[in-house]
Amino acid sequence: MQDKSRAPARLRADGDSLVLVQPIRALDQTRGAALVLRYPMAQALAPYRPLMAAVIIVGLIGATLVAAASWALSRGLAKPITALDEAARRLQRGEEVSVEVTTHDEIGRLAESFNLMADEIREREADMVHQALHDAETGLPNRRALERAIQDRLIGLAVGEQVVIGTIGLDRFPQVRAAIGYELATQLVAKLGQRIVDTVPGLIVGRLTTSILCVVSTTTDTEDVLARAEALLPSLEAPLQIGGEPVDVHITFGLASATKADIDASRLIEHALIGLDQARATHGKMMVFDPVAYGDPASNLSLMSEMLEAVRNGDLFLNHQPKLDLRSGQITGVEALVRWNHPTRGFLRPDLFVGMAEETGHIRALTDYVLTQAIEDQARLRAAGHEVLMSVNVSGRLIDDQGFAEHAIAQVMAAGANICFEITETAVIGNPDIALAVLARLAEANIRVSIDDYGSGLSSLAYLKQIRADELKIDKMFVTALESGGTDALLVKSTVDLAHSLGMKVTAEGVETREVIAALQLMGCDLAQGYHVAKPLAVDKLVEFLDAWAIDLPVKTESRLSA
Ligand code: C2E
Ligand code: CA
Ligand code: CA
Repeated sequence: MQDKSRAPARLRADGDSLVLVQPIRALDQTRGAALVLRYPMAQALAPYRPLMAAVIIVGLIGATLVAAASWALSRGLAKPITALDEAARRLQRGEEVSVEVTTHDEIGRLAESFNLMADEIREREADMVHQALHDAETGLPNRRALERAIQDRLIGLAVGEQVVIGTIGLDRFPQVRAAIGYELATQLVAKLGQRIVDTVPGLIVGRLTTSILCVVSTTTDTEDVLARAEALLPSLEAPLQIGGEPVDVHITFGLASATKADIDASRLIEHALIGLDQARATHGKMMVFDPVAYGDPASNLSLMSEMLEAVRNGDLFLNHQPKLDLRSGQITGVEALVRWNHPTRGFLRPDLFVGMAEETGHIRALTDYVLTQAIEDQARLRAAGHEVLMSVNVSGRLIDDQGFAEHAIAQVMAAGANICFEITETAVIGNPDIALAVLARLAEANIRVSIDDYGSGLSSLAYLKQIRADELKIDKMFVTALESGGTDALLVKSTVDLAHSLGMKVTAEGVETREVIAALQLMGCDLAQGYHVAKPLAVDKLVEFLDAWAIDLPVKTESRLSA
């Protein structure tokens, strides 16, 4: 039999009490018995209460510490990272930023690196902006910088003010560069720019092209600017020391101005550049952009088709400028000059449409027309009893055009006309072999040849000999300068002698005074043409003029012979 008194004691909670049940051996040993001990729960737990309180307090303190630590961590780590993130975004937007470095830990080092990077980006950006706005060779502001400066000035203009742009071209730059080399020639441009800055403080000076500088200023009085620019010329042209040697400086000015509403910066620069071209084309030192002479490029194209129509309809006509024989005092020739009174654009200078006709391939049609008209006008003069040599301007581009020459020869021979072709000295002759053959054909057909505008180009003696011309026309630039004396007189005299030695007659163009006639007579010049003799005249007026012609030459034949 099992001994129940050896069963283990059990402890259990019963309501508010703790009960211990201990099986025991009953006295009669027949039945099981147990000892039950009941003890109030509260009393049983009382000794553990302080321990539980301690555990709770420690737990609370721990939780508080964890919360405080994570708050401190978020302050120390997350905030600087947010600041860096914000700074990076501002840097990306191109703003100038730097972050505050407050610690010496990893975050602090990250902030320092960020600031270094931002500084480098700024420097590189400034460098790039400088390069984008400056000419690498001279360090002067470039076209983009000039355009910005002009645009700023146009925007800031007050009433009555104008922005004035000056283009300053170094003359014969390719020749200078060939003589002193690329590097020194670039130094020359840079030094000229510096000279302008030093001479006129406050002026914006930049480089537009290899050999053209540009200045920008604002004024209320453009006349005053012109006068000052002219006064500046001599000091700007003083020789510059380049590589230890003095180098001559020759410049030409182009000018253009605008008020706010007119124009944008790049167009204004274009105008000043055209002004420079116009100054050079007229052998001047300075020229304000002339929109009338330039025309409107858009309408220039239609102008050519209108010119062809005018040729077909006979709307072009000729004026004739008399040529005076300085020995006999007779008018022995005239030069035919084409005229066009355009229905909407008014009177157009031949320089405008003749040049354009050359460029666009319409010069043949124009010249055929002029020659036909000139032959007709000569017949009209003959009928009135005046036999004069009729000179017609022929573009160099037509001299190697055999078709033109044969057509012209046939026309001249059929009419028995007395014609001279004036060919500009600087004429671009495409094929010299054909040109020489054509010139020989013209001579056979008794058409004279004259070299026009002599002195304005670079023709050599060899060229003159080859052409075998009958006449040399000294450019009016030299003739008008005769009055002021100086070296031009020598130049004209030696040209006359040279032409005579080559068997040519000499005509001086642009004779505007009686004094020049006298000087030309003394130099042995053959013919004079210019306003002092007569302006170009319509054919009817020319007949009247020739009918009435008489002159008392300043130098009589006898005194000239003894001179
Ligand atoms: P060019 O052949 O040198 O003609 C002389 C120009 O000088 C003419 O200008 C004439 O009016 C001007 N002139 C004459 N005397 C004087 C003077 O005393 N002082 C000044 N300052 N000027 C004077 P225009 O008629 O305006 O002709 C300009 C140019 O147009 C001519 O220069 C010629 O190259 C060209 N041209 C004219 N007609 C024709 C033509 O039918 N065919 C071609 N291919 N060219 C022509
Ligand atoms: Ca001429
Ligand atoms: Ca001429």
